[in-house]
Amino acid sequence: MWADVIVIGAGLAGMTAALAAKQNGAEVILVDRGPIGTGTNSALSNGVFSGPVSPERAEEYVELVVRIGRGLNRPGYVRQIARDAPAAVEFLCSLGVEIAKTPGQWAVRSPKPETIPGVTLVQGVVRQVLARNRIRVERGVYVSTLLQASGRIVGVCGHDLCGEAREIRGGSTILACGGAGAIYAKHDNQASIMGQGYYLAACAGLDLWDMEFVQCYPIVLDEPDMPMMMIYPPYPQEATLIGPAGEDLLQKHDLGNINQAIIRKRDVFSAMLMTKGKAGPICMDLRAVPDEKWEVHPLSLLKRFRAECRQRPIRISPAVHFFMGGVRTDEEGQTDLSGLFACGEMVWGLHGANRMGGNALMECLVSGRLAGLGAARLASAHPDLPAAPISPVAGEGPAGSERVDLRDLRRRLQDAAWEHAGVVRSREGMVAGLRKAENMWRALRAARFDTPKERVLQEDLLGGTFTLRAVLTAGLGRLESRGGFLREDYPAQDDAQWLRNSRVSWDPASDRFRVEYVPVEVG
Ligand SMILES: Cc1cc2nc3c(=O)[nH]c(=O)nc-3n(C[C@H](O)[C@H](O)[C@H](O)COP(=O)(O)OP(=O)(O)OC[C@H]3O[C@@H](n4cnc5c(N)ncnc54)[C@H](O)[C@@H]3O)c2cc1C
Repeated sequence: MWADVIVIGAGLAGMTAALAAKQNGAEVILVDRGPIGTGTNSALSNGVFSGPVSPERAEEYVELVVRIGRGLNRPGYVRQIARDAPAAVEFLCSLGVEIAKTPGQWAVRSPKPETIPGVTLVQGVVRQVLARNRIRVERGVYVSTLLQASGRIVGVCGHDLCGEAREIRGGSTILACGGAGAIYAKHDNQASIMGQGYYLAACAGLDLWDMEFVQCYPIVLDEPDMPMMMIYPPYPQEATLIGPAGEDLLQKHDLGNINQAIIRKRDVFSAMLMTKGKAGPICMDLRAVPDEKWEVHPLSLLKRFRAECRQRPIRISPAVHFFMGGVRTDEEGQTDLSGLFACGEMVWGLHGANRMGGNALMECLVSGRLAGLGAARLASAHPDLPAAPISPVAGEGPAGSERVDLRDLRRRLQDAAWEHAGVVRSREGMVAGLRKAENMWRALRAARFDTPKERVLQEDLLGGTFTLRAVLTAGLGRLESRGGFLREDYPAQDDAQWLRNSRVSWDPASDRFRVEYVPVEVG
């Protein structure tokens, strides 16, 4: 199978890239392991986009993003997002997605209040993807490795849900695989978001930047026997938070209301809830919320759990939400490898040490368009593949012979990530976490799979374990706390020493990770 441009991942970033490449005349194949659009984190989103609402506000936006990112952002990339944001929003509107301007942001709202805005968003974009006859959609195809020839990426191979091998060759390849929230025991992501993009990139030889910065969201439903899900903001003024001893946490910690705490002090808020949560459950009490507020967004999204929410306080917890780190791209969305582009959550540089709310979806739009256009241009400039033999990049899929309980291993991976690389970390904890991750990695490499389903789980776990090792490797050397990265043994931010980005490289032959801390870019 051949395409000018292959896109891996059909979230907002991947679909935007596919549409942009197609608009530039490319034949595109859009691949996802699941359904197009709806199995993604983009579909879970609250539909909020940040950016400068007018060109005169661009510098103000850049300053705010860098302030929230505590100076670790890539200034050139932040400016690019600021510059291209209005055109990106126009592009989204041109696809027929209704988007309302609110003060300082844009928001998608669902026609039905009980539909998650992200679902409305992706359904609008999916319709356009399916309507374009030069975008071929491949659902249920899991990409396991990239193909290379003469140092250029020239395609992908993987398998479908029946385990049949699939190979696609192409002029350019775009990684749009999202983050890795589901490697944690507590998260609000789709269960399949396990860091596969970081692993594919690292196997191809790319470095990963700022992987220690993982954002938690403070208010996620944490009821036994219910799926964890974000309780979507904004919160009604009647909502209170009750600590394990029955105390009013907002009052006790002088946090104002929940919305203020989330916007101004998200990380310390999460850390406080974590610490308190060790003594017993933390609950959100919504019983005083009047009837009419349950009918409108966002409480309308709790419809399924409404009965419980109105009868008793419901358990909540902080949970992992977003990965700030990832791969480096240039102003055309290309990585350091010829023919390989990236977009969306797996790209590094916009967020620094923490992400401003609404910036992830904006990044999907802007970086998706850049990567799509860049990939189409490259494919048309170099239509012929190198004459050299084509081979998979380094890194192995599962091929061992030992029987391993993969479900148990997933639980152990998620517990280790949450315990050792979660809201607040320490040297001791990260060292212990790294040891566990390395043991799991070895077990996975030696494991065998018997069914296509097991193969997928095993590959997810390889990606997840690899990602956890990268997160812990980058975190261990950073001797400070900054943004979303909190250490109890180094609680202060240290600008004199640590205005640096971490850069993790992995050598597949020796299976060694290396980290260096590079002074931040200026400009
Ligand atoms: C509950 C929630 C609410 C949020 N709300 C907002 C918000 O309002 N505003 C905002 O800015 N951000 C928000 N975010 C963050 C934002 O939604 C995500 O960062 C963004 O949607 C990521 O988009 P993406 O296209 O990069 O990846 P995704 O949407 O996650 O899509 C990636 C796709 O790639 C597929 N894939 C991965 N690896 C492979 C492989 N090897 N082979 C085949 N397919 C593969 C995945 O299965 C997935 O379908 C929210 C996040 C969550 C979890």
